[in-house]
Formats: sequence, C-alpha cells, structure tokens
Amino acid sequence: MIKSKINKLIKNNIYLIILALLVFISVFSTNYFLLYKKNQELKLSNSLENIFFNKTLNEIIKNLKPRFTYEEFRIKEGDTFEKLLRELNVNQNEKDIVISNLSKFKLINKLFKGQNISFRLDNNNPVKIIEISIEQTKTKKYVFYRTDNLNKFEYKEIDKDLRRKVVFKEAEIINSLYSGAINVGIQPNVIIDFARIYGFQIDFQRDIWKNDRFQIIYETFLDANQKVLDTGNILYANLILQGKKNDLYIFKTKDGFEHFDAAGKSIKKSLMKTPINGARLSSSFGMRKHPILGYNKMHRGTDFAAPEGTPIMASGDGKIIRARWCGGGGNCIKIRHNSTYETVYAHLKNFARGIKEGKRVKQGQIIGYVGSTGMSTGPHLHYEVIINGKKVNSQKLKLPSGKILKGKERKLFEVSKIKLNVLKSELISSQN
Ligand SMILES: [Zn+2]
Repeated sequence: MIKSKINKLIKNNIYLIILALLVFISVFSTNYFLLYKKNQELKLSNSLENIFFNKTLNEIIKNLKPRFTYEEFRIKEGDTFEKLLRELNVNQNEKDIVISNLSKFKLINKLFKGQNISFRLDNNNPVKIIEISIEQTKTKKYVFYRTDNLNKFEYKEIDKDLRRKVVFKEAEIINSLYSGAINVGIQPNVIIDFARIYGFQIDFQRDIWKNDRFQIIYETFLDANQKVLDTGNILYANLILQGKKNDLYIFKTKDGFEHFDAAGKSIKKSLMKTPINGARLSSSFGMRKHPILGYNKMHRGTDFAAPEGTPIMASGDGKIIRARWCGGGGNCIKIRHNSTYETVYAHLKNFARGIKEGKRVKQGQIIGYVGSTGMSTGPHLHYEVIINGKKVNSQKLKLPSGKILKGKERKLFEVSKIKLNVLKSELISSQN
C-alpha cells in the first residue's frame, strides 16, 4: 500500500524530481571542479616550495652562467689594479687576498695604456678569482694562478712562440695614405713607420696626389692560430708618385737597420720636415693675425692641424730638455739634437709614455700626442726649428742629406737589394 503510494508520488512529481536531481548534480560538479582546481594550485605551490625542486631550479639557473668566466680589461689612462678589482663581482675578502698576494710584484703598479689584463673567475659561491693574466709585451705575459691552498697565488711567465711571415701589400691612394693602407689590411703601426721613412723627403700634404700608389713588404709575427700579434721591419717600400717610383730598401749597417734609396743613399736627414703623419699644414712661418690675441704677430713656427691624439714624432735624434707645461704653449717638448739644432713641439694633449726631461730619443720616436692645450683654438701641433738659438722656417730648411753607402758596404747593399727585388716578385706571383 505504502509502496504504491510512493510510486504514485514519484509518478506525479517525476519532472520535479528530475529537475531537483539535475540541480544537485550541477551544483555538486561545479563545487567538485572548484575544489579540484584549488587542490591542483595547492599542489603546484607545494612543489614550488619543495626543496628538491628549488635545488633543481637553482641548478638550471646556475648552469645558464658557466662556472668559469673571463673578465678582460684593456688599460686606459688612470686605471689602477685596484680599480679593475672594484669592477669584478667578488667580495672584499677576495680582493684583499689578491692584493696581498700580488702587491709584492711591481708589475701591478706599472700598468700601461693599451695593456691587456684578464681575470678568470670561478662563479661558484662565493665567486673566486682563480687566475690573473697580465700582458707585458705582445709575446710575454705573467699568469698568476691560485694554488690548492686557496689563499696563495703562484705565477709563471709565458712566452708565445711566434712565426715570422713576410707580406706584400699594394694599394691606391684614394682619400689618404692612411685609409688606403687600412683598406688593404695594413696594421696602423706599419703605416706610421711607412710615413716615418718617407717623412724626410715627402710632404704628405702636397706631394701625394689622388690615384698615386704604394707597395710595401713588411714582417709580421703570427701565433699558432695564424693571428698577427706583432709587426716588424718594413723590408721594402715604394711610393709611386705621379708615375715616378720611390723605392726604399732596408739594409743593416753598424748602426742597425736603416732604409736606403735604390742608389744607396740613406733616407735619413738630421731633421724631419713634418714630425707628424696625416696632418694638414694650417699656418706657416711668418707674419699673421694671431687667432686668439687678434693682432698681427710674427709666427715663429709651423702649425699642423691634426685630430686630437695623433702621434707626434721626434724630428731627429736628441735629448729632451723640456717636457712640461709652458704657458701659452700648453704641454710642450723641446729637444736638443746637437750643438746647432733644437726643435719645439707645443699644445700637446699629453706626453708619450716615458718621455721626460733628460731622456734621449730617436728620430721618429713618438714623443706625445696632438692636443689644444695652452693658447690654442683647436687641436694642432705648433712646431719650431731653432738653429743656433734662432727660430727658422722648418718648411724651407735645407737639411744636410743622409750618407751614401760606399765600398764594401755598397756591394753588400746591392746584393741585399737584388734579394729584396726577387722576394718582391715572388710575393707578387704567389698572390696571383
Ligand atoms: Zn703655432
């Protein structure tokens, strides 16, 4: 009886029951889904906090940065070893260890411009300096390395084994000698040397025309990777000006290597006409309106305009009798060449390394760099030649010519010249 009553009730309300059921299912499933989601989030956050997972993550991040890295520096004006250490990501204790170990070596107090220094770091916490490499010359460096006793450094001297290779280059001068040479891959110091050996006879401003050409044979020194680490002597050079050859050959005399023309005449003169390479003569010797003072004044020197930092050469062998600030002349240098000749170089940006009063210099040696110090309106070199105490026009100077090889020396020179000419044809044919 009761059973049929219930059946009847169900039958009468079937739609209502189905609806209630549907509502229940949908509410339950939504809740269940929210709960599931929450659980999943909790699981994820749990796993993120999990030490093992964190370790793995750290391991991944750490592996992105290699354990050992190099920090390389090229020394600039005013750099000190301490300054380099400050730039490294190491703690103070580490810097102290390095300083206490290396301070007894004078070389860390004698850093020079352009010198390469590198640090090898072990990036395991805390970061440690495990090797310091200090370049002395292109072929020699000192390497300080940390020993097993972690607070000590030992050092070794490394000499690179270099292979000599002679190269031939030829180029047309379109814009300037310098850009023409750079375009065919000639190293800047070779170009400076080239300008030096022609500097006695060629006025680079007036004598070189567009489409003039030059040829050069010089020594290079390569490391095991065929990389040019250094350059040596210019063995042969030929500046072809308006179709006229000007060959120069290297020859060893009792004074060392010198360059001679094809007739055995030394290119060397007592003084150079232009002690700077790539400059433009901007104001010559004589009366002129002074650019700063504004009134007419005798200009007792020659001005060469050149970019700041252009190297200035000693015009002849001699002794530096002044290398200091001289008022209107700014930083200036005076060289006494002999009892007759003296030269002055003014407005320099700075002096070359090791240039000081009392020091002897060789002709062509770099003594300083073009600047605009003192009474000057822009970067230029003011150059003076003084003969017996009197300032003369350097551009009109008749200089005693160089020596001519004679006798046995001349015969040896002729043999050496033939060899260089043969070398030249060999190098040219091997290029083609
Ligand atoms: Zn001047």
